[in-house]
Amino acid sequence: MPDLEPLEIGVMFWAGGDPLETIREVKSLGVRCGQLGIPGEMELDGAAQAWKQALEAEQFRLVTVFAAYRGESYADIPTVQRTVGFIPPATRQEREERTYAVSDFAARLGVPSIATHIGFIPEDPSHPDYVAVRDMVRRVCDYAARHGQTFALETGQEPARVLRRFIEDVDRPNLKVNFDPANMIMYGSGDPIEALDIVGPWVISVHCKDGEWPAKDRPGALGVEKRLGEGAVGIERFIQKLKAIGYRGTLNIEREIEDRHQRLADIRDAIELLRKLR
Ligand code: MG
Repeated sequence: MPDLEPLEIGVMFWAGGDPLETIREVKSLGVRCGQLGIPGEMELDGAAQAWKQALEAEQFRLVTVFAAYRGESYADIPTVQRTVGFIPPATRQEREERTYAVSDFAARLGVPSIATHIGFIPEDPSHPDYVAVRDMVRRVCDYAARHGQTFALETGQEPARVLRRFIEDVDRPNLKVNFDPANMIMYGSGDPIEALDIVGPWVISVHCKDGEWPAKDRPGALGVEKRLGEGAVGIERFIQKLKAIGYRGTLNIEREIEDRHQRLADIRDAIELLRKLR
């Protein structure tokens, strides 16, 4: 596996198709590392061996494996609150077990970090959902620790101070943050550069994604994702800030539009942009 440079450019991509073809497509963009998302419905039994072989054959390094869950929808903010991550009580146990399975899968691939959106963390620490999710995150951290893994929370759905207080309350050394500056903006959770002053010490990986603030006249709507450099993040100041806080991990480009052809074209342009900025 290649040794990575500080701030090496990578891509966030999803499993589902043939592992070798998937990795070759990502590599054809000009990167040799990235983060792999595992769809909630993907069958994990038996999948690890093919992924491991493909990664070795292509000398491609995964820095993170992301878990997603059956039944999640990102249609708008109320739907996210109702369906995403560890917050919905009805799916909590099933998703805890799925997270363990993703941790096992990542371990077979030799990947040192797993991550997920746990959903909207309630602001009130005495709220039953807060308590249940905090305890669940502790168990996931302890499980991941047995594989020598960190467990990273994707940012965006709550203000940085709420996330920081939650992390301190969970109190596990392998609990980290996958920082997505566009999510902070698209969910209206606060300025991402200021947020790095609050959660910076926990940031183990980042998404390079861009987006707009939510429209004021459409309550509950998420802001729109944009091509990197064309949204409200200010990608140049984001990279500068990462350097300023001493971040040395990879810059994982995330582009979430449906159109595959356009997505790949946008990622190519994003790689060009980041090469100039890093
Ligand atoms: Mg993201």
